[in-house]
Amino acid sequence: MERVEKILAGDIRTAARLIRDIDDNMPGSREVLKALYPHTGKAHVIGISGFPGVGKSTLVDQMIQAYRQEGKSLGVLAVDPTSPFSGGAILGDRVRMQRHGTDPGVFIRSLATRGHFGGLTRSTRSAIDVLDAMGKDIILVETVGVGQDEVDIVTTAHTTIIVLIPGMGDDIQAIKAGILEVADIFAINKADREGIDKTVNELRMMLGMNHKGDDAGEWQPPIVATEALRGKGVPELLEKIEAHKAFLFDHAGTHLRARLREKAFRELVDIIKESLVGKMIDELKQSDEFEKMIDDLVEKRTDPFSLCERIMADRLGKRF
Ligand code: GDP
Repeated sequence: MERVEKILAGDIRTAARLIRDIDDNMPGSREVLKALYPHTGKAHVIGISGFPGVGKSTLVDQMIQAYRQEGKSLGVLAVDPTSPFSGGAILGDRVRMQRHGTDPGVFIRSLATRGHFGGLTRSTRSAIDVLDAMGKDIILVETVGVGQDEVDIVTTAHTTIIVLIPGMGDDIQAIKAGILEVADIFAINKADREGIDKTVNELRMMLGMNHKGDDAGEWQPPIVATEALRGKGVPELLEKIEAHKAFLFDHAGTHLRARLREKAFRELVDIIKESLVGKMIDELKQSDEFEKMIDDLVEKRTDPFSLCERIMADRLGKRF
């Protein structure tokens, strides 16, 4: 378990290799993750999501800078569920962040897992664990867009930031269902553009915010206007993150505990699904009957429900 020791000591090469192995779903990585798990849970994980082009990378770059000035160490994950390319390709595009590439206090990786069961949310969780075990104070997880995959990914964070820009009223309506509920903080970026106040008001209305008083014990997602290109609003954004963190730890940590329990539950369910279903499907594909099953479906000799019941009963016994 030399790899474990090295990661706990903050070794960048070992961590980079492990994250790549996780992304490629290499068998050995699980054993390392098992040993690292007890050493995780110290970092504050911040998820950043929003439509492409709203300025997430620019904002992340500024956040890195601001956190470095506070002397915090950072892990940054750029996650792309849409890219068919390997991680390196996206990182190459993230030019804005690259100026931090030579800073030993900043460790930037990208993830773009494709095609294996469990997928990107699981790889992201594991990569977060690696950065956490390395002793990073802050972990920033940035996604390229705001689809369902991205929502799953950002909800692995402690604090989720959704980035919008002025004039996105209609888009906000469209994404309302998935996004507004997961946001702990809204950043309205490109505040130099026209319509910032209108967007803030629209969003406020949509959130049904009551500015006369907060509901006791509930977090009201604040809206911060930012201008990432010039770093404006970034200190306010960091303040709100700190306030959200304080909220999680308030009331004897009940909110934090609830969030951690929810996260732990979802992680366990995903790993069970991945292990069980992934294995079953692999076995099935390699079995002699597989081709015949598919033919039977195509020829309507059976239906997928009955076939599934038979497969489950064969492999898992009578209960199914
Ligand atoms: P991402 O796709 O969400 O990561 O967006 P990027 O960070 O790549 O930014 C997209 C474009 O918006 C780039 O050309 C940035 O220079 C520009 N941009 C970022 N922040 C601001 C801002 O505050 N104001 C303006 N006017 N442009 C910005």
